[in-house]
Amino acid sequence: MTTLDALDPAALAALHERLAAQYGELQARGLKLDLTRGKPSAEQLDLSNALLALPGEGEFRAADGTDCRNYGGLAGLPELRAIWSELLGIPTAQLVAGGASSLTMMRDVLTYALLHGRDASPRPWGREDVVRFVCPVPGYDRHFAMLEALGIEMITVDMTETGPDVDAIERLVATDPTVKGMWLVPTYANPTGDTTTLEVAARLAAMPAAAPDFTVMWDNAYAVHHLTEDEAKAVDILGLAAGSGHPDRFVVFASSSKITFAGAGVAFLAGSAGTVAWYLKHLAYGSIGPDKLNQLRHARFFEDAEGVRALMRRHRDILAPKFAAVEEILEERLGGRGVATWSKPLGGYFVDLDVVEGTARRVVALAKDAGIALTPAGSAYPHGDDPRDRNIRLAPSFPPVEELREAMDGVATCVLLAAAEARLAR
Ligand code: PMP
Repeated sequence: MTTLDALDPAALAALHERLAAQYGELQARGLKLDLTRGKPSAEQLDLSNALLALPGEGEFRAADGTDCRNYGGLAGLPELRAIWSELLGIPTAQLVAGGASSLTMMRDVLTYALLHGRDASPRPWGREDVVRFVCPVPGYDRHFAMLEALGIEMITVDMTETGPDVDAIERLVATDPTVKGMWLVPTYANPTGDTTTLEVAARLAAMPAAAPDFTVMWDNAYAVHHLTEDEAKAVDILGLAAGSGHPDRFVVFASSSKITFAGAGVAFLAGSAGTVAWYLKHLAYGSIGPDKLNQLRHARFFEDAEGVRALMRRHRDILAPKFAAVEEILEERLGGRGVATWSKPLGGYFVDLDVVEGTARRVVALAKDAGIALTPAGSAYPHGDDPRDRNIRLAPSFPPVEELREAMDGVATCVLLAAAEARLAR
């Protein structure tokens, strides 16, 4: 297969003409396809339909006799926390079960830090002249939007196959006390699929920080979301942190949104005993307790950690063919053409596509005009600004596989057309 760069001007012009015609046919099909968000498909949601009948008529008592219909139990139901404790390798006492959204817990943590400070803060973050966060890129758009909304500045570092660029992070954090924290999706990151290695995690736990309250938002949203049998192992991040003398550095988040129901799951927060006490102290001003009936039905539905793992294998059976279809079409249409590289994730919800520099926006616009909705180019960067305009996040989970194939074939046409246009314009 020749790369576009190797074509002489006449061959390039001919290719451009063919691609433009192909694109015209694509538009004429009047598609209406959506690859924008990492939502579970209806088929995946169906796997948890037994929840709709749980805990069942007359059932409202937790294992310890607690009446789940009533107020109380701010840290969440012990039997559900015990299940996640095993999955994440975190003691139940250090793990809180909350409402349906881990994003809300993340926003709460940042808000409490801004208003009150963390235990080691010299003053509330909101009274600092400037608060900055390290953001591995490409990363999760909602993390960045949250910081923007709260007035926290962002400094980017590269995400790599072994995790965030830890050399760069050590340098940024060592001397600058305005750098108060960082985001990290440690397992099957959104959108790159990269998993942070034990070695990188250990360095993040041990590195000296100029800010005494430096906080890593360890968003383990995809902890058990394996796509192959080569399953990422959980890193005992709280153990590493305690062993390195920074017990309060990490706030861990997890969620059942992409395990049971995205809109009616249970979210989790974990940290040192001190971090959990700090979180619950502030949470108590806004809640008398979580939805324990939802937590009870989740505990009954799973029974134990193996119940969660078994369900995740059924998700894998639905998702893996979709990821395989994306890989197959990208390889078939774009492989060897020198116009794109993409991730081959072992878990999580996304494929990360890098196209020819300066063409990502054009690709997304072309796709839109052909009825294929993609996440806006640049969304995986703070302020939506991808300095190289090359990154596109693909979310294969939601559409049925035939629609996904059609959409991906269309995306490939758009990538090639945009690349040929850029090459002709040079
Ligand atoms: N964190 C990451 C990295 C995610 O990708 C998502 C969902 N796209 C969330 C958090 C959202 O989690 P929740 O539904 O628990 O708010």
